[in-house]
Amino acid sequence: MSVRPLAELEARVRRNLDLTSHPTLDWMPRTDGPDGAHVHDVAIAGAGQGGVAVAFQLMRERVTNVLLFDKAPRGLEGPWSTYARMPTLRSPKDYTGPDLGLPSLTYRAWHEARFGDADWSRLDLIPAHLWAEYLLWVRDVTGVVAENETELVGIAPAPGDLLALRLRSKQGERTEFARKLVLATGQDGAGRWLVPDCVKALPRERWSATDDAIAFEALAGKDVAVLGAGASAADNASMALEAGARTVNLFVRRTRMQRIQPYRWLTFSGFLRHYADLDDAWRWRFMSHILGLRESIPQPTYDRMRAFANFEIVTDGAWLDAKLEAGRVKLSTPRGVYRADYLISCIGMDVDFAARPELRPFAGAIQTWGDVYTPPKAEANARLARYPYLDANGAYREKAPGTAPFLRHIYDFTFAATMSQGASGCSINAMKIAAPRLAAGLTRALFRADIERHWASLQAFDTTVFEPAPIDRDK
Ligand SMILES: Cc1cc2nc3c(=O)[nH]c(=O)nc-3n(C[C@H](O)[C@H](O)[C@H](O)COP(=O)(O)OP(=O)(O)OC[C@H]3O[C@@H](n4cnc5c(N)ncnc54)[C@H](O)[C@@H]3O)c2cc1C
Repeated sequence: MSVRPLAELEARVRRNLDLTSHPTLDWMPRTDGPDGAHVHDVAIAGAGQGGVAVAFQLMRERVTNVLLFDKAPRGLEGPWSTYARMPTLRSPKDYTGPDLGLPSLTYRAWHEARFGDADWSRLDLIPAHLWAEYLLWVRDVTGVVAENETELVGIAPAPGDLLALRLRSKQGERTEFARKLVLATGQDGAGRWLVPDCVKALPRERWSATDDAIAFEALAGKDVAVLGAGASAADNASMALEAGARTVNLFVRRTRMQRIQPYRWLTFSGFLRHYADLDDAWRWRFMSHILGLRESIPQPTYDRMRAFANFEIVTDGAWLDAKLEAGRVKLSTPRGVYRADYLISCIGMDVDFAARPELRPFAGAIQTWGDVYTPPKAEANARLARYPYLDANGAYREKAPGTAPFLRHIYDFTFAATMSQGASGCSINAMKIAAPRLAAGLTRALFRADIERHWASLQAFDTTVFEPAPIDRDK
């Protein structure tokens, strides 16, 4: 495949940015931190597609005093080059997202510029490694700057209604002050990947979770058991099969495979844009259905593992117990006992603020859906009750007023935002709407907080726009 230079497209992007740059006035008043320390108007943890899109939108709103950082090295942000073990994205190639409405910034424009229009027409789904490359290109061409290998390890309130952020990098730890913080920290950004307790009790070299680095080559000749019914479970099963595993069993806890993609249903403008405006009863009803169903395995993902004769799907296959016996793992399931050499757990994530070091100190102070809404019995769901109940701008609320008022400066753009905002953080299909909405939530709160300063600025505004003739000098 020939690869073309991107210079011409990049010139088009700059031109598009210029054509759409109105209003260009900088408007954020300067805020000083303790002892005159620099204060970022917004800090964004996570420079995956979500963090970059929010930073880009803020830049377009002339909020430029932004600190964007990511614990991963450059190019390894998000799952695409690490634990997304799939050749292509699952979402259709024409979904737009990080471009935020700029045609020259779309994946399609980038792909056509690099590989030609005919290649785009032939393309079925976007290769995952190209998506990762494209995201880096968006970041660079828009001028969004991110500091890599920098991890958020602590958040605390600071004098002046600020947040003090503890950041850890190779240079050591430092504190940065910010007025607002966006958590764009991914699927497990407000919790953890789930692993059954009986698996966690096994020696660590016997099992992996969804986001672990897995040495698949070491699974050649082994019996591998994967738990989960979603696409990641299927990808991991395929990886083990392709690496030469003796057998791979995919254990699905339900009695039937889920074959519907609810995210395909919800990808329409009305739902993406207005779900967040619904009352609690409707939001709960929709999301408990959608998140209760979970995502199915797309056809190519299913075909990839099904191509192997040494692969089997075990429905009604919950792992009730896992014990090491004679050097192998004995798995007890409702279908009987299975033996495996290695286990991979891919059963999704759970909201658990205490599992995140940066949220742990005030985990109990964050208001959740369980605190504010009691669903009808038929819709009860303890897992969803743990999701944060975000305010209209996308920020945390306090469980009890006055206990942690700084929470209103922390905006959740992780998967946990889904109950309150609908598909938002962690969704390519929603990014076009969700990133500008989050940026608007930030600018709304910043503008309101600065209203006295804006008023004073108007009072002091004395820029004249015409020079009177001598005859009018005194008028
Ligand atoms: C395996 C997998 C496959 C997916 N496939 C698709 C798909 O095909 N189509 C689709 O539409 N969606 C897909 N998704 C859903 C979604 O698009 C992705 O999860 C996407 O990566 C979300 O982007 P994000 O920027 O919100 O989070 P991420 O891309 O996960 O980025 C979060 C970033 O935060 C950083 N970070 C985390 N904690 C800290 C911290 N404390 N300090 C600093 N940095 C931190 C991480 O290093 C990471 O780079 C997939 C998700 C997964 C997990």
